[in-house]
Amino acid sequence: MITGSCLCGNVTYTISGTVGDIVHCHCTTCRKAHGSAFSSVAAVADAHFNLSDTEQLKSFESSKGKKRYFCANCGTQVYAKRENTEHLILRLGSLDDDPESSEKQHIWVSQKAPWYSIDNNLPEHQEFE
Ligand SMILES: [Zn+2]
Ligand SMILES: [Zn+2]
Repeated sequence: MITGSCLCGNVTYTISGTVGDIVHCHCTTCRKAHGSAFSSVAAVADAHFNLSDTEQLKSFESSKGKKRYFCANCGTQVYAKRENTEHLILRLGSLDDDPESSEKQHIWVSQKAPWYSIDNNLPEHQEFE
């Protein structure tokens, strides 16, 4: 069982399955939402994601049909969700455990912060691959 939580502890979750490959997203909306150079994310099946209390979350529709869910109290980004999908896109900074997934790629490098240098050998895609 893999566990995660927000900064204040109001939101906790468990994952009763595997976490997908790790993607580092450099898009402008991720950078703004996370207040960081990029966000590291991975897919988790809805059926494997067990949230303690959905009332503790707020969401923001950052692009049409895609909502970003975060703790209403402390602001930790927990996951994003596209309409009509059966998985969510977990924000890996909220994990308390090692997901034991592999890093796969960087995406939206076309929108990368100019003050951040990617320094590894992962594939880099200008937009979503
Ligand atoms: Zn919180
Ligand atoms: Zn992004």
